[in-house]
Amino acid sequence: MLSARGVVAQAQTVAPAPLTVIRAGRLLDPEAGRILTNQVIVVEGKRIREVGGNVNVPAGAQVIDLSNATVMPGLVEAHNHLALTYKPVPENNIYYYTYVQESTALRAIQAVSNGLQMLNSGFTIVRDMGNNANYADTALRQGIEQGWIPGPTIINSGIIIGGMGGQFFPTPEMAKDHNIVYPEYLDADTRDEILKAIRQNILFGAKVIKICVDCKPYGYTADEIRFIVAEAAKSGLKVEGHVQTPRGARAAIEAGIWSIAHSGALDDETHKLMAQKGIWRAGTETPDGLAGHPVSPEAYQRTVEGLKNAYQNKVPLTFSTDADYWVEGKTRGELCLEFIRTWKDAGIPNADILRAMTINGYKISETEQSRGPIKAGFFADLIAVPGNPLDDIETLKRVQFVMKDGLVFKRDGVMTPAAFFNPGPVNGWRLR
Ligand SMILES: [Zn+2]
Repeated sequence: MLSARGVVAQAQTVAPAPLTVIRAGRLLDPEAGRILTNQVIVVEGKRIREVGGNVNVPAGAQVIDLSNATVMPGLVEAHNHLALTYKPVPENNIYYYTYVQESTALRAIQAVSNGLQMLNSGFTIVRDMGNNANYADTALRQGIEQGWIPGPTIINSGIIIGGMGGQFFPTPEMAKDHNIVYPEYLDADTRDEILKAIRQNILFGAKVIKICVDCKPYGYTADEIRFIVAEAAKSGLKVEGHVQTPRGARAAIEAGIWSIAHSGALDDETHKLMAQKGIWRAGTETPDGLAGHPVSPEAYQRTVEGLKNAYQNKVPLTFSTDADYWVEGKTRGELCLEFIRTWKDAGIPNADILRAMTINGYKISETEQSRGPIKAGFFADLIAVPGNPLDDIETLKRVQFVMKDGLVFKRDGVMTPAAFFNPGPVNGWRLR
């Protein structure tokens, strides 16, 4: 029997998707490193239907005029922690204490706020690499995907897997019951524990696996990392390794890990090996001069030289920040964009900075066939900035327009997210 409600539901599913047309005065193709002028982008529902110079505006389409702007694909932050914000007060920027002070629930709310701030700055994809209490990262991703709230596409790791203690030095009291601090790391020393930890993360919504390669002297060997890579691959996931020693870097590279986080332990030799094997570098290159987060001139110089060396060796580079703290006066998105300075100081041309922030970001996130490039059939994620970012990369700090999944999130420099807020899982509750 077909109820009246059934008829309505059926009618809703066949309703045509709304059409939006964007008139782009300039359109950046970051892959080619060039600007096309006077382009038209037709968006149907969540996806791009057509792009080109000679495209007809379909009847009934809403037209958005960006003829004075440069339209470009959304930005990617390849290493952040949206459900973590350590602060000068009360924890003196020591994130051990953040974990003790703040519940998973509070941190999930912070993640929503940080996600909005990232999207407002043009980041349409964020890889969220752990340290998010008890799966606040998964909750954030589900909240966005199910349609409760706006936010970037989240590629999240769940809880970081490491040998006993993870990145921490827990006290014996903490280690005994695993109640305090332990939600931040999964202890996995034996192969059984490693396998269980990977499966736990996948079960609880991870889309990438993050490991501590060498946080302790007993870090993982190349053989163990190969085992981790193979187990994650069974479920279609890649592995990112936190690396802080040259030995750890060589083990991760030998094992063919997908990506290496942090650059302090990488040198000319390991860069050459990474380039050979096509291993992504998520270097997290902190600039100096961030209020409250001093980086010594020597440390900054090493970071700049390291990035320059990686670029010269043609290592696949991604834009990544690890910015998981509060800098007063800056949103999370604005804070991340400050990291452009390190890339400029490393002498990397704007076209390649833009590739790292877009094309390479889609590749490390494995969305390059569906989300990122402004092409027919792809999800409609795009942003607009004044001026030409190939000439002036700083214009990325002045994002005026953001579209995510075909909906306008920001227009004329102001967030307009109403269309994203829903009182139910409009995209489906089964999205896990
Ligand atoms: Zn990190």
